[in-house]
Amino acid sequence: MNKPKRIAILGCTGSIGTQALDVIRKNHKHFVAEVLVGNSNAELLIQQALEFKPNAVVIADESKYQQVKDVLFAEDIKVYAGAKAIEQIVEMETIDMVLAAIVGYAGLASVINAIKHKKPIALANKETLVVAGDIVTQLAYENAVNLYPVDSEHSAIFQCLAGELDNSIEKIYLTASGGPFRGKEKGFLQNVTKEQALKHPNWVMGSKITIDSASLMNKGLEVIEAKWLFSLKPEQIDVIVHPQSIVHSIVQFNDGSMKAQMGLPDMKLPIQYAFTFPERIKNDFPRFNFLDYPQLSFEQPDKVNFPNLQLAFDAMAKGGNMPCVLNAANEIAVEAFLQDKIGFLEMSDLIETCLTKMSFVQKPTYDDYILCDKETRAFAKSLSLKKAL
Ligand code: NAD
Ligand code: MG
Repeated sequence: MNKPKRIAILGCTGSIGTQALDVIRKNHKHFVAEVLVGNSNAELLIQQALEFKPNAVVIADESKYQQVKDVLFAEDIKVYAGAKAIEQIVEMETIDMVLAAIVGYAGLASVINAIKHKKPIALANKETLVVAGDIVTQLAYENAVNLYPVDSEHSAIFQCLAGELDNSIEKIYLTASGGPFRGKEKGFLQNVTKEQALKHPNWVMGSKITIDSASLMNKGLEVIEAKWLFSLKPEQIDVIVHPQSIVHSIVQFNDGSMKAQMGLPDMKLPIQYAFTFPERIKNDFPRFNFLDYPQLSFEQPDKVNFPNLQLAFDAMAKGGNMPCVLNAANEIAVEAFLQDKIGFLEMSDLIETCLTKMSFVQKPTYDDYILCDKETRAFAKSLSLKKAL
């Protein structure tokens, strides 16, 4: 790598965003934080901007604009606010790559606009592909834009596929830790609290994805993400529970040979690889020690006590707008669970009701997806309020 890559970090104040800044902090020779985008944590955004001196920052929450501007104006850093500004900032000529690390549907519009402006994407925001995978991948194809996966499982598959361009994939195995409630049954799950659900055994992540990991919805979203990233048929994607989170995923080729990618659970590695592909650059991240993990184990996922995984497979198989419904219903369900409005198991009940009640659209346009997301959220919210009564 010659010139430093200028990266726009969308979601810079979150778990992925701050780890991406760690990667940049240690490699100023290779990377520049060109743009920083956050939601409402003005203090952290300001602190990051003072350290990394980006060209511009955007804060989604417009009420925080003045606070951010007051500090950064003197530093010659441009300051913008609002959702539209996030969508537009990715067009900036000086951006070489966009790290999409906003959580949820809110990250979709900026990814679409970045692709339209031919910016390579380091993709953490899996919901983008779950909601509108057909449109996003088609646009990427038309604009010759690469989507580099940041999700550890997808980065693993991507790494296993290096040098295998002409070889057919028989299937892939996405590994899942099983989350904090692995092995538990519904009788136990119906009473779990958000504090229990927020304690992931292997990863420290944002609250939404942590709840998704506990309910196995995260793996369901990842199955759909994999379908679009690697052009796979649903029957080519399998999930295997691997509680140690060392084997990050596996590709099985048409001759039966399997390639896996391994490493300690540390998101900085897939973030760095997405930034540097096809190169690898040296770092000082902790290394794996076999003696710390004398056993790596594998087991079937439990789709009975964790229905979300099956719901995601079903939504993928049905196609059309169903994954968009699944995602919107899940975002509302997770929010309601985090606000103690509904119980852990009621999240899947709510999602299932949305999947059966929302009308099916076979070949949605972008506007159809926007409408479907809006309507599903409204319906899911009404369901969560009823349950809360
Ligand atoms: P997080 O909640 O820690 O951070 C989310 C970021 O998005 C924050 O910077 C927040 O300010 C910003 N944001 C939220 N809503 C916004 C909005 N409406 N407009 C603009 N910005 C907004 O989440 P995270 O754990 O960093 O996850 C980010 C994405 O990466 C998710 O899609 C998640 O599924 C994916 N991902 C995360 C991990 C992980 O280890 N954390 C691993 C794989 C994939
Ligand atoms: Mg993952």
